[in-house]
Amino acid sequence: MEIHAQLATATKIFCSCAVETGGEPNSNTCPVCLGLPGALPVLNRRVIDLGARAALALGLEIQETSIFARKNYFYPDLPKGYQISQYDKPFSANGQLTILTAERDDHGHALEWKPMTIQITRMHLEEDAGKNVHEGLPDVDKYSYIDLNRAGTPLGEIVTEPDFRTSWQAYDYVNHVRRVLQWVGASDADMEKGNLRCEANVSVRKVGETTFNNKIELKNLNSVRFMQKAIEFEIDRQITAHEAGEPVNQETRLWDEKNNRTRVMRSKEDAHDYRYFPEPDLQPLVVTAEFVESVRSQMPELPDTMRERFIAVYGLGFSDASQLVSDIDLAEYFEKTARITANPKLSANWVLGELTREFNNSGKSVCESLLTAEDLAELINTVESGSINNNQAKEVLVEMFATGKTAPEVIKEKGFEQVSDSGAIEKIVDEVIAANQANVDAYRGGNEKLFGFFVGQVMKASQGKANPKVVNDILKEKL
Ligand SMILES: [Zn+2]
Repeated sequence: MEIHAQLATATKIFCSCAVETGGEPNSNTCPVCLGLPGALPVLNRRVIDLGARAALALGLEIQETSIFARKNYFYPDLPKGYQISQYDKPFSANGQLTILTAERDDHGHALEWKPMTIQITRMHLEEDAGKNVHEGLPDVDKYSYIDLNRAGTPLGEIVTEPDFRTSWQAYDYVNHVRRVLQWVGASDADMEKGNLRCEANVSVRKVGETTFNNKIELKNLNSVRFMQKAIEFEIDRQITAHEAGEPVNQETRLWDEKNNRTRVMRSKEDAHDYRYFPEPDLQPLVVTAEFVESVRSQMPELPDTMRERFIAVYGLGFSDASQLVSDIDLAEYFEKTARITANPKLSANWVLGELTREFNNSGKSVCESLLTAEDLAELINTVESGSINNNQAKEVLVEMFATGKTAPEVIKEKGFEQVSDSGAIEKIVDEVIAANQANVDAYRGGNEKLFGFFVGQVMKASQGKANPKVVNDILKEKL
């Protein structure tokens, strides 16, 4: 697997042009990222900070010295004729990453989650190229348009060893990488926006064979799911070809979403000779051990560690803990709620149940939520105290989420406030007892099951507002 992750800097890797999407074409450019003769690149320090975060989150060793190199090739979106990348001395190498992976049934449900260790060969730093535009402009049948706003955007290219054996392993790996990069703030890692792109190299061989057959490279995979489907298709296609004695050519293929198949993009028979050589305009990059330690000390707890802690400390199940750590903001929200309520399991139920439903319905992220963890905790405590029931609380939560009001405010507005005043409840109890003398006699004669009947009558008479605990106490005393 190869993943290109755009590092979340404000400016480009070798100049101070802004990195932003949706700007006027070619507006964020300067002599450096346009590759004009004589312009000199200057390394953006922030790229090293975020690159170090990404490397540490992926279990990579940051190399003391790395070298930027020119990768020479011509393409219209690369006007200077070379890309500044890294070659034989990458920024980081020798990574080991343990992911959780599972095969899926026909409905896509995970069967059994198991840990799997992936060897990450390297993550090097490089600049992105510009974009050729073939849509939405005049005479696109005659012309190609070039937008160089993306030229010089910083990327980390993450390359693994050929460790994957199924499409779902690749799927779980890319999702893991996406999540940790977002988690540590190294990349937005959004495939739809193109700031995380992945390529899969696929080949098949018979059980027991030790060498790899010709591989094909899958490109332009716009989502992790498409990637998984494309790999699955390729596995079948290649097995069929091998069994029929047909050659599997080394080539690049694209995923054709409409027809659910891969198709040839270009043949790889004459591989590029990029003629790499060290970039003469940049010094070797030297990173000190102190720098690496300072980055490490500022990193948040990683999702896997956090999941294990949620299981061990809060007694949550694997599934709940995994869902909570799917997003760092959600995990922190849960933890804040659980600390206030001192009831982690119940807090997890509310966060993953009612609250997550509101997030999904509204399309809001955790950060945009008007309902704070403190307010949710107050609501949960109100239910626990018996002041309102579960169904009322769900209704209250919807209103709190929509308006940002607190639980007491919404409870008051909706008239859910329970009557705990024992004088008022006592009056109702007296009325119920007086009106049901036959049942009172039967209860006193030993039919204890009738107790529930009396509770029901009192709750009904109070229109559901009487505090059940107070009702119980008073009824027991009076009966
Ligand atoms: Zn620039």
